Amino acid sequence: MPATAKVQTAKQPVRAAARPVVTQSGGTRRERNCSVARTLDIVSDAWAFLIIREAFFGTQTFEAFRSALGIPRATLTNRLKKLTQLAIFRQVATGSSQRKEYRLTKMGFDLYPSFIALMQFGDRWLAGGKPAPLTLVHASCGCDSHPFVACSHCGKGVGARDVKYRDGPGAGRHPAKAGRNTRRASDGSRFLLGRPSSVSRALQIIGDKWSFMVVREGFFGNRRYDKILTELEIAPNILTDRLSRLVSNGIFVRRQYQSSPDRYEYLLTDMGRDLYGPFIAMLRWGDRWLSRGKPPLLLKHLSCGRDFHAEVVCDRCKQPIVAADMRYRLAYDPKSFGALGPRSVT
Ligand SMILES: [Zn+2]
Ligand SMILES: [Zn+2]
Repeated sequence: MPATAKVQTAKQPVRAAARPVVTQSGGTRRERNCSVARTLDIVSDAWAFLIIREAFFGTQTFEAFRSALGIPRATLTNRLKKLTQLAIFRQVATGSSQRKEYRLTKMGFDLYPSFIALMQFGDRWLAGGKPAPLTLVHASCGCDSHPFVACSHCGKGVGARDVKYRDGPGAGRHPAKAGRNTRRASDGSRFLLGRPSSVSRALQIIGDKWSFMVVREGFFGNRRYDKILTELEIAPNILTDRLSRLVSNGIFVRRQYQSSPDRYEYLLTDMGRDLYGPFIAMLRWGDRWLSRGKPPLLLKHLSCGRDFHAEVVCDRCKQPIVAADMRYRLAYDPKSFGALGPRSVT
């Protein structure tokens, strides 16, 4: 696959300077190979995420990104450069002018189903009783669409309790890099800049890498504090902080399972389990574009008994959704955010 080769060269420059993390015991922390983590490495940077989101709405020029996001020039230059190195964008010279435009590559467009899965989660749980910021209209079938995450084999919806895992050819661990996972969860407010967005609201909760990794352990069935601590080789104060945030955000409930000494376990709520769809949609993207043909994890759908990958499909026509086939009915005026709203329907 040419696309995979592109990523191998593109991925290097951004992280090349990072140093391995030395743990308190003097060893190097080793992080589980994970396609979702690789995906979140890209979209958990709030500015990068916001730029990609605007691109899905048709934004292509430097000035248009700047106007839609109110982003400082230097920051925008830096992120567009990174996203181009990562092969999410390609630069295109336009006509007679010197102006360059930024277009999503096939790899960039392929992030769309993950965004839609996160959006559906945000609409369900984080809209605060208000109407969703936008309604999706699937152009191919003409229906209002509420896409869901389906098994690529049987087409049925997939839930967290419906899947068995085993190691794939890319399984293993790699030394954790300094500078990763260190951003505090409170930085998440930046995700909310610009237009109202259910994806932003979802990333505000799980976009921080540690929060996400703790949720991932929940999907693997690791409930107990000590077990999560060992699995992630995480500092206890960070784990405590992230767990208490995830509990207050409704993703986990805390339950005492032993006294003197007191021990707690963390159980995913219905809302927490509902993150599973976005989780395996991002897993699919990371497998496809960042795992060099060797997925770290293989999934088996228990209902149909077959290995599968996640597909985000229209609930009406059951076809996989792609960015070009989607129209939007906005519950806000994009112009009040200096943003574009093409492909909108009224
Ligand atoms: Zn299936
Ligand atoms: Zn449809």
